Amino acid sequence: MNETQLEQKIVVIGAGASGIACATKLLEYGFQNVLVVEAEPRLGGRIHTIPFGENVIDLGAQWCHGEQDNIVHELASKHNLLESTGPVYENYQCVRSNREVLPDNVANRLKAIVGDSLVTRQLELRHCSGSLGSYLSNKFYEMLRKPENADIDEVIAAEFFDNYQKFENSVEASDTLEQVSGRGYLEYWECEGDILLNWKDKGYVELLRLLMHSREQPAEELGSLEQRVLFNTSVQKINWNRNDARVELQLSNGDSCVADHVIVTVSLGVLKASHLQLFEPKLPVAKQRAVEGLAFGTVNKIFIEFPAAFWPEDWTGFTLLWRQQDLADIRNTERAWLEDVFGFYRVSYQPRILAGWIISANGRHMESLAKEEVLAGCLYLFRRFLHWHIPEPVNFCSSAWHTNANFRGSYSFRSMDTERVGTGASELAAPLTVVTMTPSSPARQKFMKQQSRCDKPIVLFAGEASSEHYYSTVHGAVEAGWREAQRLAEFYGLAGTQSVAKSQL
Ligand SMILES: Cc1cc2nc3c(=O)[nH]c(=O)nc-3n(C[C@H](O)[C@H](O)[C@H](O)COP(=O)(O)OP(=O)(O)OC[C@H]3O[C@@H](n4cnc5c(N)ncnc54)[C@H](O)[C@@H]3O)c2cc1C
Repeated sequence: MNETQLEQKIVVIGAGASGIACATKLLEYGFQNVLVVEAEPRLGGRIHTIPFGENVIDLGAQWCHGEQDNIVHELASKHNLLESTGPVYENYQCVRSNREVLPDNVANRLKAIVGDSLVTRQLELRHCSGSLGSYLSNKFYEMLRKPENADIDEVIAAEFFDNYQKFENSVEASDTLEQVSGRGYLEYWECEGDILLNWKDKGYVELLRLLMHSREQPAEELGSLEQRVLFNTSVQKINWNRNDARVELQLSNGDSCVADHVIVTVSLGVLKASHLQLFEPKLPVAKQRAVEGLAFGTVNKIFIEFPAAFWPEDWTGFTLLWRQQDLADIRNTERAWLEDVFGFYRVSYQPRILAGWIISANGRHMESLAKEEVLAGCLYLFRRFLHWHIPEPVNFCSSAWHTNANFRGSYSFRSMDTERVGTGASELAAPLTVVTMTPSSPARQKFMKQQSRCDKPIVLFAGEASSEHYYSTVHGAVEAGWREAQRLAEFYGLAGTQSVAKSQL
């Protein structure tokens, strides 16, 4: 290894999955001078595993979604860390606001109708110029009108579909499905295999340990990133217009630091909120269009621990079907936000916990409420929808991804605006470059006797939203981190035979 490569100062902004994957990969390539700057006092970003109940819960990412071509699955399965969650999100009960539980034969037929659209949408959305919402709504009511479904009560079907749309919004992180681009929806590629693999009693933080080669105890051990992460420090300015083709960062602790390369892994929500102030000079127009055109939304989780499970053993969870006349009781009241809590489900390895989900503006509003108020609202829902005695919970916790200025939401999706602007992940992933001389390296020297001019990537972009097909996931975030580490390795002639996907170069 030649000296100059060892000395390149590389700063990774953000210690989420993408930043950790990127920094650890850079070290593996042989770069020595790698620093990670993290605004939070902890690692993981939107991976946030905390002690709760019998072991841990995940406030952010919880499942490894799929097996084939999934880098998280590849890493974890070697150590037997993942397990199937089973059909928790398929076998749930549907409960109405008058405490009626939909009979299995009705619920199963309604589930089959929406399930069918999961298959057809892969083909039909290719030619769709409208939203996912209008597509799904047409599909649902078209199926419902078929003679074999004539006996399904229309009111119940509408309540079911209303709830189902909230579930789909939680998958997308959209407020309404009318926001989601029908065609854009297909940009996400689902990895084949089980899409709900959980991390047993360990939580998603296990992945970070795998990436850093660190042990479970002590929890603060950083493995290969030891001494390389600056916590509680946010980057406030990225000056990428210096004469020396380097980048200057201003940090919240008052320090500044000059680096040869900076890799930005902050969420799309953070970029949207701060790119105009963060970058000096401002980002090029194409990049600004990507930041503004790609969509980013909020989904929150609610965890309630009871002294003992009070729900039937065969219930994996229940969704909340509001009757219109009952909704009038909460709309325009302090409880209005509860309308967007769409269901509660069991949690693997946590026999006494139910996990609820909330979407949209009401999910963001929940973040502003006192913990007691959120819990009281959830208990109101339990008492309104279930006919058993509800025991007093022993513990409670909910996430607040939107309010936290280091996240500004949960994950990215493709909206109708993305389509209108005509942008995508590759525009977000494209590095900011300056013209410089090719760096010397043993590999390059073999082929080139003289240096020539080239584009040096000085500010690079990773993070989940920059993944073309695996956005909104951890495997997308990890791949994006590795992609940018590889981009630098290739620039210095260190990358071996692997190559960055052409579309992302
Ligand atoms: C509720 C929820 C559920 C989810 N469920 C799943 C799931 O089951 N499976 C799945 O695969 N994915 C899931 N995801 C998505 C997944 O968590 C993310 O896609 C992934 O963790 C994003 O990683 P990242 O490194 O790109 O970004 P982040 O994790 O956001 O990392 C960016 C880091 O940058 C830091 N930062 C921000 N601004 C600055 C600054 N100015 N200076 C320094 N540091 C800064 C942040 O603090 C953060 O640590 C979920 C997310 C949420 C919120």
